[in-house]
Amino acid sequence: MSRPPQSVAIDGPVLVVAPHPDDETLGCGGLIAEAVGQGFAVHTVFVTDGAASHPGSLQWSRAKLARRREREAREALRRLGAGEQPRTFLRLPDSGMPDPSDMRHAQAVTRMAGIVRDLSPRLAVLPWRRDPHRDHRGSWRLAMDAIDETGLSPCILEYAVWLDDLGVADDHPRPGEMEPVGLDIGAHAQSKQQAVQAHLSQLGSLITDDPSGFTLPPEMIARLTGRWEAYWRPCGAR
Ligand SMILES: [Zn+2]
Repeated sequence: MSRPPQSVAIDGPVLVVAPHPDDETLGCGGLIAEAVGQGFAVHTVFVTDGAASHPGSLQWSRAKLARRREREAREALRRLGAGEQPRTFLRLPDSGMPDPSDMRHAQAVTRMAGIVRDLSPRLAVLPWRRDPHRDHRGSWRLAMDAIDETGLSPCILEYAVWLDDLGVADDHPRPGEMEPVGLDIGAHAQSKQQAVQAHLSQLGSLITDDPSGFTLPPEMIARLTGRWEAYWRPCGAR
């Protein structure tokens, strides 16, 4: 992206919500590195277990893949300088998050609300509310319900991962809904690229016995690892 009109301000603890392990890096790895570098706490919540990426693999069961993806997420955070920062794995089923009417949604909201209360974030970085991937939408809902439950009102930023690749017109921000903001992550670009490489199970070379398995598109990685990280902030918010 080119330079956005406004810049992200980081002035306190940051909550990061990642629908899957890898979204924390692709969506906001530079912001994580920058916030930690400035001395602020960053608590990353991984919502799903990421275990649905290779359903046809015989060598990688869902349980084995879930464990692998947590290890990759921890390593990615380490490469972003956030190895000592708190993180939580909610372990909801990848591509099978409970509906808001489901008791498991309420349980996850309660758990995330506890994290929000403890952290008292100044900034909450969430997936884009209408990202075409249903886990991303579900994670936004979960996080907003949790924040509402606490009564706290951190500044919200939302990051899109799949919008450019899979989105339809209605998925994009509507007039007056959001304003674009960006963060110059030039100082962290190399760390972010190395953190992407920590997610080896999603890069095509580790799991080779599932031809239908998921691989992060190289052009998407290139788009999300440039100098500027792009976010939307609800209009009217600070
Ligand atoms: Zn994702």
